Amino acid sequence: MRSDVTGYELNAPPDLRAVLTRIASEPGRHALLAGGTELMVALNTGRLASHSLISIQHLRELRFIRATQNAVEIGSGTTFSDIRGNETIARELPMLVQAASWTGSIANQNRGTLGGNICNASPAADTPPALLAYDANVTLLSVRGERTIPYGSFHLGYKETLLEPDEILYSVSVPRAYEGWRQYVRKVGTRNAQAISKTALAIVALVRADHLEEIRIGAASLANRPLRCAETEAALRGRSIAESDLETTVRFGRAALARDAKPIDDIRSTAIYRSAVAANLLEEFLRQLST
Ligand SMILES: Cc1cc2nc3c(=O)[nH]c(=O)nc-3n(C[C@H](O)[C@H](O)[C@H](O)COP(=O)(O)OP(=O)(O)OC[C@H]3O[C@@H](n4cnc5c(N)ncnc54)[C@H](O)[C@@H]3O)c2cc1C
Repeated sequence: MRSDVTGYELNAPPDLRAVLTRIASEPGRHALLAGGTELMVALNTGRLASHSLISIQHLRELRFIRATQNAVEIGSGTTFSDIRGNETIARELPMLVQAASWTGSIANQNRGTLGGNICNASPAADTPPALLAYDANVTLLSVRGERTIPYGSFHLGYKETLLEPDEILYSVSVPRAYEGWRQYVRKVGTRNAQAISKTALAIVALVRADHLEEIRIGAASLANRPLRCAETEAALRGRSIAESDLETTVRFGRAALARDAKPIDDIRSTAIYRSAVAANLLEEFLRQLST
């Protein structure tokens, strides 16, 4: 049922400090509105529990991309279009640009933010697999201070995160460590554009002397949350991708991914299809490495 919008209140505090003070005054009562591409759909369909919206859309303090020597830090209010237009990200973190380009339409990308994509905490969201594979960190802010944690520990379950009710996601920091690493990202949906993923994998790997010295894998729609495939990484780390060993490596990788994956049946796909396709994507990546 559609909501009666007159029952909702929207406030736009002048700066970040005022936002933090406001949400700390009644933790859990307010919903932050960034791009609104997720929130307004929830409001329109009567699924938005909170009737008090706090806009953070106008805050320049949250919209930035800063490259330091060791990391690229991206403010949570940075839009997908901002990410697509950034040269450093395009050159060094192409999986993130690819993920940003998959997210809805151009209109969505002009409004939708990285912070909203992460905090909405959908297991099917496009940017989390790349951020998991890149081993990103996230910085959370509240009036109590700030904390930086590995993004890999941020998602606890379906639409459940480590964010406390008085906290906001301030930024995402991605290490500038992937020169010479192989990078692979692929989303499988109903169509090539404007489709939520049935499944997706993002992989970075460091190959030395025909061996997988390091490998990190993030996945969408393979569990109740964006998933770092730790068991698959452990099974593949150190393995040979030389032609004579490739079949064994592929077999080990596929078997481990089946243990990592806990997909569900829903309107977009089935658990069986999701597991099978994810294993095929992993295999595709491993075979590409040896060519
Ligand atoms: C037509 C359409 C197509 C779409 N296609 C895709 C797609 O292909 N792939 C995809 O991944 N998504 C898709 N989406 C979903 C949505 O566009 C993205 O998830 C987007 O990134 C949400 O960002 P936003 O800034 O609009 O978030 P909002 O709607 O403003 O907020 C989303 C949630 O995050 C919270 N939040 C936002 N910022 C912060 C912050 N800094 N700190 C704490 N909490 C915060 C909000 O309170 C809310 O709960 C689509 C949506 C629509 C309407």
